[in-house]
Amino acid sequence: MHSVREGIHLSGYESALGADTGELKRIFPGGVAKLWGSTPTSQTRNAKAVALRDRKVGDEVLFYAEKKFIARARILGLFRNRDLAAAVWGIDAEEQNTWEHIMALGDVVEFDVPAGPLLDALAITPPLRGLTLVSAALRSQHLGLLNRLLNGQSPAGGRLSSGAVPTATGKSLGRGDLLRTLGTLDVGVPDERQRRHEVLALLWAIGRLLSGRDRMASWGAFRSQLVPILHEFGALDDGLSAEYPFRNLCGSGLWEVVGAERGESDLAPTAASAEPEAARAGLRVEAATLLRQPLTRAEAIGLLCNTYLGDVDQYELLERVGLVGYAHAGGVEQEGERRSGRGRSTGRGGRRQATVLRPDRDQRLVERVKLLHLHQCQVCGLRLETRFSHYSEAAHIRGLGRPHDGPDEMANLLCLCPNHHVQFDTLAIFIDQQWNVRRSKDGASISSLRRHPEHAIGQEYVEYHRGLCGGSRFGMVSS
Ligand SMILES: [Zn+2]
Repeated sequence: MHSVREGIHLSGYESALGADTGELKRIFPGGVAKLWGSTPTSQTRNAKAVALRDRKVGDEVLFYAEKKFIARARILGLFRNRDLAAAVWGIDAEEQNTWEHIMALGDVVEFDVPAGPLLDALAITPPLRGLTLVSAALRSQHLGLLNRLLNGQSPAGGRLSSGAVPTATGKSLGRGDLLRTLGTLDVGVPDERQRRHEVLALLWAIGRLLSGRDRMASWGAFRSQLVPILHEFGALDDGLSAEYPFRNLCGSGLWEVVGAERGESDLAPTAASAEPEAARAGLRVEAATLLRQPLTRAEAIGLLCNTYLGDVDQYELLERVGLVGYAHAGGVEQEGERRSGRGRSTGRGGRRQATVLRPDRDQRLVERVKLLHLHQCQVCGLRLETRFSHYSEAAHIRGLGRPHDGPDEMANLLCLCPNHHVQFDTLAIFIDQQWNVRRSKDGASISSLRRHPEHAIGQEYVEYHRGLCGGSRFGMVSS
């Protein structure tokens, strides 16, 4: 499996590539090729001969060993190259054969699932030898089983994750299910880079919902809008295709693909399908409905960003997918919404000028919350002295600006020192259900929020802000 798992460096085989040099370098621009080969057969009608003849670029390959399926991959190219096969895998001493029918492979995912149920369903009797091509009709008939087997299992072949949502369409999906699924996307996705692509695709899809566009996107829209984002924030290179999240997010139970081939609702398209351009993919109705609710959306975005994207410039990314407001508790103006005199510039290292909305707020409420707390910060207790008085700031918990649209009322206000106001607005700290103030980065407790008996704070606003901070990943989600 080395040539599939790690791949081979094309530069080490220059003399053997021959006429396939150009095509292999096109498929694997980084120079590392994932290859698998088969020996030729003198037969014309057996399973192997049929498979060698009829397989196509875009087909999916399942690897089988010792009664288990151990990996899946997609065919990116087909070659017949004896020199290359001999150089990579050697020559069979007995039969003087080489594995010259070569497949170039992408989207390689390894796992370890019992093959029995699927082989039974397909009426294939083990042991399997060589190659077996499954007809499109059989494949589509058993795709549900295949997906359940392959996506419901952890990479190590463990039990079904308790957080996994059944992939059956029509199954009801609650907010807790949705968030648990988003928090455990790694199930069945052993390659971190592929998981990253799934996360980027989900954020892009949520951005589409927020802007009022259709939840389903064509492959064309996907390619023109998401692929540049995958390039910039993901890792589109050898063996990873942009089609991966488009097709494989179905395994999450939150996603569907339609119109790919033969009108099957749950079938992922392949490059070889008759009309790949007709395929559409997007969030399932149940997931989209949940993500249209402001609180759930804030929680989902916060969870995805904080669980999987710690090393990414999240502001930049959220801006690219139309969710920049979620990078700040107060909301951030989108391009073209700027109104003079209403915003203030935020310092982001001078990289980009962003404007945080400060919609008109009731100054009486601001003064009242500050006086009630005698200018003492509710996070740290600091009472900042000035020459003649004290200084504090009133912070809205659920921001007044878009997209948060919080209310301007006492229950949605905190009295904070400037430092903690900045941390609260930039989502660095949040308040848990027991009124502890915690760091978003790691959930570490900083303090217990200081409360005043005459200042009731709205739990729903705290919950919204906590969602933005990804606080639900510390097991504090209420469902
Ligand atoms: Zn403070």
